Amino acid sequence: MDAPRYDLIRIENRLKKKLDKKRFLHTEGVMYMASALAMAHVLDLHKAQTAGLLHDCAKCIPDRKKLVLCRKFQIPVSSFEAENPSLLHAKLGAYLAKTEYGVTDPDILSAITWHTTGKQDMSELEEIIYIADYIEPGRNQAPNLTEIRKLAFQDLNECMYHILKDTIRFLKEKPNSMDDTTEEAYLYYSNYHNSREE
Ligand code: FE
Ligand code: FE
Repeated sequence: MDAPRYDLIRIENRLKKKLDKKRFLHTEGVMYMASALAMAHVLDLHKAQTAGLLHDCAKCIPDRKKLVLCRKFQIPVSSFEAENPSLLHAKLGAYLAKTEYGVTDPDILSAITWHTTGKQDMSELEEIIYIADYIEPGRNQAPNLTEIRKLAFQDLNECMYHILKDTIRFLKEKPNSMDDTTEEAYLYYSNYHNSREE
C-alpha cells in the first residue's frame, strides 16, 4: 500500500488559525528546510514536509492548558515537564497531529514527539526535523549557524552532535533547564563524533 498523502494546504490553513504570525512563519521555514534536507539525504519529501508543518502545532497553547490537555488525553507528564510545560508542545503536538489533523504515520508522529529534546539514535526523519527546527532561515540567535547549516546537508549525525553540544552549553547556563533525554542524546552523538575523528 502506498504511504498516505496528507492535504498540506488544508493543514496549513488550519495552522494559520492556531499559531501566531511569528510561529507560523517559523513553521513554514521548518517545512521548507525539512524538504530541502530530505532532498539532500534522499528521504521521503512528503513525510518531511508534513512533520515540518505540524511540529509546533501545539506551541501556542498556553502552558497551563497544555498540562490540562495532557491530563485529559492521558499523555504521561514527567516531573521535569510539569515544571517546564512548554516542552510538552512536542508530545501534545504529536497527539493533536493524529487526532485533529488526521496524520497517523508513526514516523511523522515520532519526529514531532522528539523535535524539542532530541534522543539517542534518532531516525533520519527525526533528525531532519530536529535540525530544520534549529537552522531554518528565520533563526539567527544560535552560535555557529553557518557551519551547522552547511553540515546539515553533509552529515546528519555530525550535525546533531554540533547542535546538541551548543544546546547543552546554552542550557547549562540556566540551572535545572535540561531534560535527561537531551543529555543522553548528546552522549550518543558524541560517540559518533569521536569514532569519526579516529
Ligand atoms: Fe517546537
Ligand atoms: Fe519549532
